[in-house]
Amino acid sequence: MDLGIKGKRGLVCAASRGLGRGCAEALAGAGVDLVINARDAGRLERTASEIADRFGVQVTPVAGDITTDQGREAVLQALGQADILVTNAGGPPPGQWTDWSRDDFIAAIDANMLSAIALMQALVPGMMERGWGRVVNITSQSVRAPIGVLGLSNTARLGLTGFVAGMSRQVAASGVCVNNLLPGIHATDRADSLDEGVAKSQDITIDEARRRREATIPTNSYGQAQDFGATCAFMCSQHARFMVGQNILLDGGASNISV
Ligand code: NAP
Repeated sequence: MDLGIKGKRGLVCAASRGLGRGCAEALAGAGVDLVINARDAGRLERTASEIADRFGVQVTPVAGDITTDQGREAVLQALGQADILVTNAGGPPPGQWTDWSRDDFIAAIDANMLSAIALMQALVPGMMERGWGRVVNITSQSVRAPIGVLGLSNTARLGLTGFVAGMSRQVAASGVCVNNLLPGIHATDRADSLDEGVAKSQDITIDEARRRREATIPTNSYGQAQDFGATCAFMCSQHARFMVGQNILLDGGASNISV
């Protein structure tokens, strides 16, 4: 399917590996020129040149922490304007509800709510002026089915979800579609480190920890970053013009909810 976005300009945050990279590759495959971001400059530059070589599009790496004002400023300066924005950042650590201080909450809200909102506030007005835009915020399945130990993530990401529910409907008449994409467990470095933690605490192998987790998913497998990226690229396509303010769950059926 031709996604109709060849020649558009996009920003994908936190994209040197994992789900962000999957989104960057799928957009590049559809002919989108990109700015991509992550903190580790070396790995980010390698990812940018691999994507550019493979898909024949421009990919500009801008290293920095996207959850800080300075990191976002550097990215926005290199970017200029954008037609497509994919927000993403690392997730907050797990813990118990009594563990977290005000500072922990502020850090999580900065990373997983306010940084996405700041990027939308910077880029969506230009999209509205030009009459076309797409925004996909990478959030989590925990927005639909909150996970106890991920209280910081639940709190911050639900705040972003609430903001998008209102804002997406305020901008839709200008041709800008804003939606959220909710990953369940995908085979990325983050999933590996979660499995490592389970293996250590239960004194089992990492393979066994993964097998047990896979057994809780109706597909009996983890998602792949490529499939996640393909869904993201569709949400950024011409065909998604009637998709507004939605929370699209990609979890292999793991969250047992009817709507
Ligand atoms: P990942 O494999 O660990 O990759 C994270 C990517 O983000 C890397 O490129 C990393 O590069 C970059 N990054 C992290 N923090 C950053 C920051 N502050 N500023 C800029 N770049 C940053 O993680 P993932 O699995 O793709 O997860 C992406 C998001 O989806 C996370 O918020 C995660 O919590 C959420 N999620 C993932 C899953 C899953 O199963 N994978 C499930 C639910 C939710 P650097 O380290 O070089 O910065």
